[in-house]
Amino acid sequence: MGSIVDELEAVLGPSQLDVSEVSLRRYAVDQAPVIDFQLPVAVVFPETVAEVQAVVKACADSGVAIVPRGAGTGVSGGAHATRNCIVLSLERMDRILALNPDDETAVVEPGVVNAALNEAAAEHGLMYAPDPASFRSSTIGGNVATNAGGLRCAKYGVTRDSVLALDVVLADGSLIHTGHQTFKGVAGYDLTGLFVGSEGTLGIVVGITVRLKYLPREVHTVAAFYPDFRTAAAGVLAVGKARVQPAIMELLDGGTLTQLDDIHGSDLSARGRSLLLVQTDGFGAAAEADVVRHVLREGGATVTTEASAEAERLVELRRHSRGTEVDDEYRVGEDVAVPRSRLVDYVAALEAVGAAQQVHLKVVAHAGDGNLHPTFWIDRQGPAIDAGAMDRLQAALDESITAALAMGGTITGEHGVGQYKLRWLGQEQPEQVRQLQRRIKDLFDPEGILNPGKAI
Ligand SMILES: Cc1cc2nc3c(=O)[nH]c(=O)nc-3n(C[C@H](O)[C@H](O)[C@H](O)COP(=O)(O)OP(=O)(O)OC[C@H]3O[C@@H](n4cnc5c(N)ncnc54)[C@H](O)[C@@H]3O)c2cc1C
Repeated sequence: MGSIVDELEAVLGPSQLDVSEVSLRRYAVDQAPVIDFQLPVAVVFPETVAEVQAVVKACADSGVAIVPRGAGTGVSGGAHATRNCIVLSLERMDRILALNPDDETAVVEPGVVNAALNEAAAEHGLMYAPDPASFRSSTIGGNVATNAGGLRCAKYGVTRDSVLALDVVLADGSLIHTGHQTFKGVAGYDLTGLFVGSEGTLGIVVGITVRLKYLPREVHTVAAFYPDFRTAAAGVLAVGKARVQPAIMELLDGGTLTQLDDIHGSDLSARGRSLLLVQTDGFGAAAEADVVRHVLREGGATVTTEASAEAERLVELRRHSRGTEVDDEYRVGEDVAVPRSRLVDYVAALEAVGAAQQVHLKVVAHAGDGNLHPTFWIDRQGPAIDAGAMDRLQAALDESITAALAMGGTITGEHGVGQYKLRWLGQEQPEQVRQLQRRIKDLFDPEGILNPGKAI
């Protein structure tokens, strides 16, 4: 038997197989911190389901590991290359195969970019609701594999809530179809739900039937500035108590506002130490926005007046607030979620952790879902840099995870476990549950060739 590269050459065209150093490096990592850098043996670009099957079959026969990859925007190391693997890029499978306005569904290939599906759906007055902040680059296949969340998830749910059916290439190269084309369907176990969020460890997703929603006719956005972060977090609960169901409820702390000002030249931090952005949609959007303004003012916020154009601009800024643009700091950050009732307590716990470890803190949160992205950081050149600084950063991160779990939260709300978060998984899930998951993995992938060392 020849090498895996020879085997792949036999089933793919020359432009679909890349072993150049520059490509191997480019496709070796996603956007997560790198723990164990590995170069793949090859990167392949199948264009059809049959080609994906042929690649998987060749790898299965040779016992070669496969790391599936969408756009590589993942932030947990789910698409990091592992030892002697090939990277299977789905980026060329980017066709929208069907858009059925009356059914409110679409069928897409995995490499379709989230924004492209939304543009196509909008022509029919529809939208694909899950909108990760990476929507302009991340793929639907990647979104499915990570069960991605986004800003609109406060009202419309996460990716799993919008996936009806999947075509999946299994570890032996065979193809299955799971789920149904209808909104309802309860025949048998929910294998579709199992594949969603499985981070490429159970099969390669090659086709996705998604549920679409009607685009709201009206959208109103309210921006509420607060003197501190905890009061702003309390505003989230006040909106719920007023029985308003916003589409978007995003929370930014003072550190994030200062950073956005530095990058975009805005004056947000002069207007408050925290910002709560609330978007209502649908025919009742204006009435709901009125209630939101009233409730938030009562809670101590300074609220923007009628025109929501500025507030909408702030939502756009929020989509760019991950902080990766900043390169003058060392930072560690995570993706925890806590029950919403614990949001204020958790914010207080984060502030205490930052103070105790003498590191800075900034937080953005999909507050409607209790999903927070806290980042602990220190200046690269500041006085805080000393021998123990990096240890204090890691300690702050570990403590922030422990605090979330103690409040009934989770180590990852939307980014997935990947490689990076495996170290905390045992704190969240008891051994019996992890054992069950390993058995499921064995069932789907007995030789362990699909994205080994990730997710579970
Ligand atoms: C600026 C920025 C903002 C972000 N905002 C959000 C956010 O708001 N919400 C959120 O949830 N995430 C967010 N993310 C993280 C990331 O965009 C998501 O995890 C996204 O779903 C990854 O999609 P991708 O196409 O880049 O997949 P990749 O990063 O390429 O892969 C992600 C995982 O899916 C697997 N995979 C990819 N395609 C397939 C397939 N077809 N079949 C099987 N497995 C597959 C990979 O092996 C890997 O484990 C953000 C990232 C960035 C950089």
